[in-house]
Amino acid sequence: MRYDDSPPSPESASSVSPDRRWFTRRSGLAVGAAVLAPTLLAGWVLVQLTTGAGADDARPPRIVMPAAVPSPTPSSSAAPAAPASPQAKGPLAGKTVVIDPGHNTGNFKHTSEIDKKVDIGTNRKECDTTGTTTNAGYMEAEFTLDVSRRLRTVLEAKGLKVVLTHEADRAWGPCIDERARIGNEAAADAVVSVHADGVSSGNRGYHIILPAKVKGGAADTAKIVGPSRDLGERIGSNFARTTGSAPANYLGSGTGLVVRDDLGGLNLSTRPKVFIECGNMRDAKDAALLTSPEWRQKAAQGIADGIVGFLGG
Ligand code: ZN
Repeated sequence: MRYDDSPPSPESASSVSPDRRWFTRRSGLAVGAAVLAPTLLAGWVLVQLTTGAGADDARPPRIVMPAAVPSPTPSSSAAPAAPASPQAKGPLAGKTVVIDPGHNTGNFKHTSEIDKKVDIGTNRKECDTTGTTTNAGYMEAEFTLDVSRRLRTVLEAKGLKVVLTHEADRAWGPCIDERARIGNEAAADAVVSVHADGVSSGNRGYHIILPAKVKGGAADTAKIVGPSRDLGERIGSNFARTTGSAPANYLGSGTGLVVRDDLGGLNLSTRPKVFIECGNMRDAKDAALLTSPEWRQKAAQGIADGIVGFLGG
């Protein structure tokens, strides 16, 4: 959502509550997606099973992660073990990318924790938000994690070191300040926070959120404003190419680029960082794309191409 860690407003207040109402009402069985992501050495399958007998028994989706296919083992005992991923050469050598899957599927059940304010330097903001859903109930947090994993696979195949800020390994969060800290402490060469928006139907397309120049408390983005714009422009153009999506028709004046000064995840970053809102989950046409595994692979490829270009690869 583009109001991820924005201050409380009528828009965000009215947008979050339908998500929560949906979460307690949904019922029936939906087998979301079975996805085989092609990769050179390993593959993974994400099976989304959503079950719920009713409001009192609503459960979050279960994510099943079979073990990765092992790499071929060298037949000669004298040979060194094959590396898990190719060694990067040239400009990508030694580079680290941090990917931040927006929100967390568990946030809906931990609203008191994620509503607590954290210091973003220029302000105090909620730790995290629930994110949005499609009208059929596909959660933004599921989308962001799926795209992030696909993105990791593509980048690791290039030999880059990739860190995810979370991966279905915690009940909620992380908070926005921690998300920024993970990128900073990894000394990331590029950081991308993956999202999808939740605005009214008819609003379509992607946009990239760039950090504004801010200074206050621990926030000082002067050094990252320029490189983050470069990163964001490259991701936007590549994303448009691979997905065929257009820049958002509801903000950014058709550029697909928006500068914001209110996002803790950007304000606290000391590394080049952008958010990408891949589409509008509340629009039926965009939702049809966002719920397609094939489209998500194209999205991941476009984001990856933008990152690799930014890193000089
Ligand atoms: Zn979001």
